[in-house]
Amino acid sequence: MSRFACDLINNISPYVPGEQPRDKRYIKLNTNENPYYASPKAVKSITEAALNNLNRYSDPESTELTSAIANFYGVNSENVMVTNGSDEALAFAFFAYGTRGLCYPDITYGFYDVIANLFDCSVEHIALNDDFSIDETQYYNKGKTVVLANPNAQTGIELSLDAIERIVKTNPENIVIIDQAYADFGKCNAIELIKKYNNLVVVNTFSKSRSLAGARVGYTIADKSLIEDLKKVKNSFHPYNVNSVSSALATCAINDKEYFTQSVEKVKRTRCILTEGLTALNFMVLPSAANFIMAKSSEIGGGELYKLLKEKGVLVRHFKDERIRDYIRITVGTYEETSQLLQILSNILKEKRL
Ligand SMILES: *Cc1c(COP(=O)(O)O)cnc(C)c1O
Repeated sequence: MSRFACDLINNISPYVPGEQPRDKRYIKLNTNENPYYASPKAVKSITEAALNNLNRYSDPESTELTSAIANFYGVNSENVMVTNGSDEALAFAFFAYGTRGLCYPDITYGFYDVIANLFDCSVEHIALNDDFSIDETQYYNKGKTVVLANPNAQTGIELSLDAIERIVKTNPENIVIIDQAYADFGKCNAIELIKKYNNLVVVNTFSKSRSLAGARVGYTIADKSLIEDLKKVKNSFHPYNVNSVSSALATCAINDKEYFTQSVEKVKRTRCILTEGLTALNFMVLPSAANFIMAKSSEIGGGELYKLLKEKGVLVRHFKDERIRDYIRITVGTYEETSQLLQILSNILKEKRL
């Protein structure tokens, strides 16, 4: 730390991303990326278009991508704002609507606390039920901004669309932010509600279901008036927030519906195989609607299991928070990665029993 940093910077704890190791090849199941490559059509197309125009600034409105997203969801372009990953979208939304106070579950995406601290928003952490589900009634009539990841981060558990709607409806004077990073792997999507409610902000990303984590593209869908607020924040912070190459990639990716559907289906099928395999090894598995699974061994603690797996070349995520420290979070990989993981876990458990 330098002696020049302001108090705020001296006191914040930045987000600690999952490991992105460069030392050796791991079976990498720790940061919820998609194991399948991005749409080949999208990758091929960027060489022709975007790369020739790099001397020019990117389109500050990301017009083409915005309209492709609007088409995909059957909303208007004025309901969409594109961002540099959805972390940026969350930051803009917290900046715009967080100073009136925020509330979200005690176990959820760790980045919320980081952004809230940065913008000095007060936070009420609402405890999940014992089974890690969200008690929707605790979010009615909050008098502050509600933030929910759906499916929830770390647990993978999904709230129904009806529950989301009840939360939005009972907070007419406040904003409800739904972070849908994993929604494509689940059953419900809140985007359809934005036509009915002007207090709902739905944040989405290309990082998970569309295999573009490295391209950094996210988007917000909301009532026109809210998109206007958020664009004011964006244009006061970083007008050219999405670069032209990523924008071209994401435009092709969202237009390649067939590839998207196929890779999401593969992940969902592998999630079942992983769940069954873990259950057979006596793991307690939370019911996941996401591309990861939280699982607890009846024999080995989360921290130890994380270490043992890493030694054997598999990276998973372990969180030290008290309520989930017995668990490991496993990203759903390819079918091959999943069977390798299950084999390695079975060996670890056998050695432990000797
Ligand atoms: C991965 C993730 C994000 C961030 O995604 P980016 O678009 O890559 O910034 C946001 N919210 C949740 C819950 C996530 O898991």
